[in-house]
Formats: sequence, structure tokens, C-alpha cells
Amino acid sequence: MKVGILGGGQLGRMLLQAAANYTVETFVLENDEQAPAAHLCNHFVKGDIKDFNTVYEFGKNLDAITIEIEAVNVDALEKLEQEGVKIFPGTHAIRTIKNKITQKEFYQANQIPSPDFVVTQSAADISNHTQLLPAVHKIGEGGYDGKGVQIIDSEKDIALGFNAPSVLEKKVKIKQEIAMIVAMNSKGETAIYPPAEMIVNPTLNLLDYQLSPAQIPEKVLWVAEAIAIKLVKAFNSAGLFAVELFVDHNDEVWVNETAPRVHNSGHHTIEANHSSQYDMLWRIILDYPLGNTNSILPAAIVNLIGEDGYTGDAYYEGLEDVLKLDNAFVHIYGKKTTKPGRKMGHVTIIHKDYLDLTHNANKIKHTIRVISH
Ligand code: ADP
Repeated sequence: MKVGILGGGQLGRMLLQAAANYTVETFVLENDEQAPAAHLCNHFVKGDIKDFNTVYEFGKNLDAITIEIEAVNVDALEKLEQEGVKIFPGTHAIRTIKNKITQKEFYQANQIPSPDFVVTQSAADISNHTQLLPAVHKIGEGGYDGKGVQIIDSEKDIALGFNAPSVLEKKVKIKQEIAMIVAMNSKGETAIYPPAEMIVNPTLNLLDYQLSPAQIPEKVLWVAEAIAIKLVKAFNSAGLFAVELFVDHNDEVWVNETAPRVHNSGHHTIEANHSSQYDMLWRIILDYPLGNTNSILPAAIVNLIGEDGYTGDAYYEGLEDVLKLDNAFVHIYGKKTTKPGRKMGHVTIIHKDYLDLTHNANKIKHTIRVISH
């Protein structure tokens, strides 16, 4: 079976690692020949995943296509889908999710709990909706890793907003941020992973570290699972989805956003769950039975982020000390150049005891630094 992946980043890289267990011929479309996934596929095609003709030409002789990022040319995927190429997930799901405005409208239409919102066309527009403040302004398309998100606590912050079609959404008093990965196959059967809890770095607005299974009361877990499954069933498409949720101080659960693909919050599933999210997506694409999502041991993920003040050829200071730890698994994405804040890799730690996990996560954060010589 010939399967294409749009995008050659670290998620594509890990997807290709899992493909080695199956009989599949892999193709990657990506502009950067040095990208993390470029050398792991059977066929690398250089090209722009946002360009209609490039995506169409890439896909027309393939059996199936999946994505590792939403910023792809959905019109080309739709044409390919009409011509019989299987797209995972279906293009209607990618199209809805790709834009935060249509994504929020989808939640509303399907009675999925998500913070109240209005659509705005400019920053100035926010002043017509002060009843929603404190709020969060989210650009419709093009934002990622917190870069398309601005907190608007009061009217004095309005100028921080986006001058493009955006969502203005009520700010939730967050107790915990969790993510749930849900798999659905072509028969409509679903499998759900235990939730991961994100600990966000408030300065960089990036993930600090992650723990899974998240430590949440059973009743909150049931609600979160029910919401995530309902949402994925509403998309009515075979594929793998990551649903990011907020648990507020009243233990109410709200959907923040969904990704129609393998997700950073599922990296630990490689070592910590029976079937990883990557293995699961291959099972869906190849029409095999769904895998076992159970956790083998609790896990933490520490991201390896380019250190401030260093730009150039990446060097991983302290790597040997981390490699000496017997429950730590290092994943370096193979990006040549480091720069401040760039995601260069991650370390997964597994341990039966949560205190040990957080202790080790902190130790690793202080042991390894991504710098340049
Ligand atoms: P991205 O798509 O860039 O990851 P998100 O929509 O996940 O952006 O938002 C980034 C972060 O901003 C979230 O992880 C959360 O901490 C905060 N955030 C987003 N929406 C809200 C909200 N409605 N209320 C409170 N905080 C929010």
C-alpha cells in the first residue's frame, strides 16, 4: 500500500518509525530536505503542502494520505478523495478543524461543551464584545504553538488582538489542561487513550512537561472521555484525533481545540502504552484491528527546547547523563539548527510512581540543554 504523509516534521518522523512494523510504502511531501522525516521515508518529494497542484500531483498515485500538520491544501485533498484516494481523517474533518472559527462553530452545532465565543474581523472589533472579557483571542488560521493566541483580560489589552478573522472566546479559569487521543476506524469503532496532563510554561506559552495518565477524579475522566468520543463520532471519519480539554475549578470540562492527526501530547505512547498513537494510525490506515490503548506505566515528557541565546548547529549538552538513566527515552528530532524556543526533541520517562516522574522530569530539565558551539 502506498501512503503519503503531508509534512515532514517530528510527528511525521515518529509515524515513519512506526511504519517499519508494517508492509507499507511511504511518501513524504515537504519543502525542507533537512526536515526530521525526510530521510526515513521510502520516497521524499520536495514541495509545498499548501499548494494545490503540488499536493494533487503528490497524491494522485497513492492509496492513502494522512497529515502531520493542518496547514495543508484541503482543496487538493478533497479532489483526491473524490477520485478514490483515502484521506485520514476525511477532508471535511481537516477543513473544519483547520480554521478555529469553523472548528468552534462545529462544537456549537454538535453540542460539544466549549467556551462561549464570537467571531471577530479585527482587534478593534473586540470592543463590541466586552461582555466576553476576560477572553482569549485566537486567529482563525495560521496560529500554532501558542503564537496565534492572545489573552485579552480587559479593554486595555484590545490592541494585542489580531487584525484577521478570529475567535474571541471566554477565558476559562483552568485547573488542569488535558489531552485525549481518540482513534476511529472505518467501521466507526473507537479507542481512547488515557488523558495526558499538560503543564504549561507561562512565559513561553509552551508545554513545560507532561504527565500521563493525568491525575483527575474518575467522574471528570468519564465526562472528558464522553465528550472526546462524542466529538470524534460527530466528525464521522476514520482517523486519529487529539482533543485538548480544560478542566475548570468547578470540575467542568471544556473542549479547547482538536487536532486531526498524531499529536505532541501522545509522544509518550511509544514507550508507555501498548499501542502507540503512531502504531494506531497505521492500523486505521491499513484497516487492521485497533490497538490496545492501555497505559503500561505512567509517563512524563520533557521537551528539549532550544536554549535562549544560542542559534546554530545543535549540541545537546548533558545528553550522556540523561542516556545513563534507565527509565528515560531520548528522542532527538534531527533538526540541524537550534534557535531559542525551537522544539528539538523530547525525553519520555516512565515510572510507576508519580513523585518519581516529576522529580526525574525536573532533573532532566536541568541536566540537558540544547545549545550551539
Ligand atoms: P495553539 O493552537 O497555538 O496550541 P491553544 O488554543 O491551544 O493554541 O491555546 C494555547 C494556550 O492558551 C492553551 O494551552 C491555554 O493555556 C491558553 N488558552 C487557550 N484558550 C483558552 C481559554 N478559553 N481560556 C483560558 N486559557 C486559554
